[in-house]
Amino acid sequence: MRIAMIGTGYVGLVSGVCLADFGHEVVCVDKNADKIAQLKKGKVPIYEPGLERLMATNTDAGRLSFTENLHDAMEGAQAIFIAVGTPSRRGDGHADLSYVFAAAEEIAKAAKDYVVIVTKSTVPIGTNRKVKEIVAQANPDLEFDVASNPEFLREGAAIDDFMRPDRVVVGVESDRATEIMSEIYRPLYLRDFPIVTTDLESAEMIKYAANAFLATKITFINEVAALCERTGANVKEVSRGIGLDNRIGNKFLHAGPGYGGSCFPKDTSALARIGQDHSMPMRIVETVIDLNERIKARMTDKIFDLADGSVADKTIAVLGVTFKPNTDDMREAPSLTIVPALVGRGAKVRVVDPQGRHEGEALLPSVEWHEDAYSAAEGADMIVLLTEWNEFRALDLSRLAGSMTTPRMADLRNVYPADDVIAAGFEAYIGIGTKDRL
Ligand code: NAD
Repeated sequence: MRIAMIGTGYVGLVSGVCLADFGHEVVCVDKNADKIAQLKKGKVPIYEPGLERLMATNTDAGRLSFTENLHDAMEGAQAIFIAVGTPSRRGDGHADLSYVFAAAEEIAKAAKDYVVIVTKSTVPIGTNRKVKEIVAQANPDLEFDVASNPEFLREGAAIDDFMRPDRVVVGVESDRATEIMSEIYRPLYLRDFPIVTTDLESAEMIKYAANAFLATKITFINEVAALCERTGANVKEVSRGIGLDNRIGNKFLHAGPGYGGSCFPKDTSALARIGQDHSMPMRIVETVIDLNERIKARMTDKIFDLADGSVADKTIAVLGVTFKPNTDDMREAPSLTIVPALVGRGAKVRVVDPQGRHEGEALLPSVEWHEDAYSAAEGADMIVLLTEWNEFRALDLSRLAGSMTTPRMADLRNVYPADDVIAAGFEAYIGIGTKDRL
């Protein structure tokens, strides 16, 4: 089947490449001329493990191509996916749907024959119906259906998530669209991955409810971690003890510096606004949003404590600034709150991140970038481990301690056992959710 994909960001590009790998003929479109030029040369504009290789396999096989021209992309396409951004609207936290609606108008003008317009972007409940209205108004003679097909992939593990999903959710209204969507995902049907076929509104709600639930789970354990610190419990033991309960599960129970990324902050905020609009406030979600901000602020307080109250003129080596490992995505990363707070209090901040520098340089202007943890730690007063990249999981702690002025570590991902850090020569250590500062 021929498929067009609008948007070559984290979701559009991964989906386009993977659908081509399923055997479909996929044309990816983007308005960003730079991205298309890079993609045509076989270069992936984002960092996503395995993507460049899979893209090459499928372009070489003639199943995958890139263009700026939507008309070309839609030639003979039976399905066209919208995978454009839906960021938080400035000022009010609603999802900004301007890119989705603009894409819908463009599709309406370019389409000649029957097509299924599939929304992959995360969109508020009712958006697919609005897309339907927009297309019908712009091109009253066009035969088409809309389908909602929210995406659940995680950056850093995106290909595996797309190829081996926990489930695929498809919201549809007609048998014709159902058949086309089934054809698209046939390789997953054949391998027995669950496909949830439902109505448009439920599909849209599933995406928001899933993300809000995950954000709640993270925030819950972060709050438990804060209480552990006051009561003498150890959150690592607590996470293990509760996560072994199958009804709870062990995922998303690692205490840390608060959630970030391109999805949880904007999607929780959008769901809260949807609730308010329908006079049905999502109280848990609203609390989660508020708590996550407090959790990030708590991290800076912990760092000040470790510095005996003041970071002024202290040199701090921050390890990891992307919102999680294995991505270059800096959107809403906790580092964007924590690092400026340290700089604002007079600290000299050095930063290391395996992939974050390209995005991070503009977002964290007053820091010094280093190539590795050892160079960042040289002569520093403190290490703050903020993102648990593999590169930071097995550091030579004695070497680090030996090169620092006052070796202290704030391990905001609980990567290292406190005793190991102290035994290696650090004079102080704090983690998350344990009582003692060692
Ligand atoms: P992104 O910002 O990385 O990419 C969006 C792309 O769309 C950009 O390259 C932009 O140039 C392009 N674009 C916008 N309007 C266009 C138009 N009219 N024609 C052609 N190209 C256009 O966004 P993303 O992170 O891939 O997210 C896309 C959607 O998927 C969002 O709704 C997001 O919430 C959702 N989502 C994201 C993730 C994730 O991990 N990033 C996971 C699941 C769902």
